[in-house]
Amino acid sequence: MGFKENHVVHATVALTMRRILEALMANMDEVGTRKSMIHLGHGDPSAYPCFRTSTIDEDALVEATRSARFNCYAPGAIAEYLSRDLPYKLTSDDVFLTVEADHAIEVLLTILALPCENILFPIPNYPTYEVEARFSLLKVCHYDLLPEKGWEVDLAGVKALANDQTVAIVLINLGNPCGNVFTFKHLKKIEETTRKLGIMVIADEVYAHQVFGEKLFIPMGVFGDITPVVILGTLSK
Ligand SMILES: *Cc1c(COP(=O)(O)O)cnc(C)c1O
Repeated sequence: MGFKENHVVHATVALTMRRILEALMANMDEVGTRKSMIHLGHGDPSAYPCFRTSTIDEDALVEATRSARFNCYAPGAIAEYLSRDLPYKLTSDDVFLTVEADHAIEVLLTILALPCENILFPIPNYPTYEVEARFSLLKVCHYDLLPEKGWEVDLAGVKALANDQTVAIVLINLGNPCGNVFTFKHLKKIEETTRKLGIMVIADEVYAHQVFGEKLFIPMGVFGDITPVVILGTLSK
């Protein structure tokens, strides 16, 4: 896309959503034609009131709050909730609460960053990773997602990129922005590859369970007892 020069301001700022949107809009004006756009912001229920939260959810939340039974520290409850989908039990020691998943990304990249180390990101990627990596000392390498294979991970590419300095690979499943839903078989292949390479998997599962039709969400945590996995979740989605 033809970014106008003044929009490529500071490298970090240039990657924020607003900058990307501004650059797109400016580019459209430049062409002088009203191109039809597909709005991808329709999921915002405050801007589009046709998407109402179900009253069942609202009532459950009110009831839980009024009961005062849950005014306690949450990690134990989260461990119990996540364990439902796993072949082993998590404990509260396995759970770390952050202020949103974006904060978890910041914390993880900061902790992992040592000079000379690198991390593998998918391309296309969720932009926060790119921004946060710029604040750390990590070198970023991008592996491809394969559109002809439902945006699966290009594992040959991952093998070619990884080296002794690779600390982790980021996996976004269910995928944003590509909408990929990885099968058990594909996740198993990812697990085998990363285990051989000796790198940790950071599985961004903020869209966990939001699948349509026959598709199944498989958490990367099902391999957590054979390969190191960190899972990111959030309430925001
Ligand atoms: C929205 C999003 C996040 C950040 O989640 P928040 O809890 O809102 O900070 C992280 N990863 C992906 C893939 C997202 O789409």
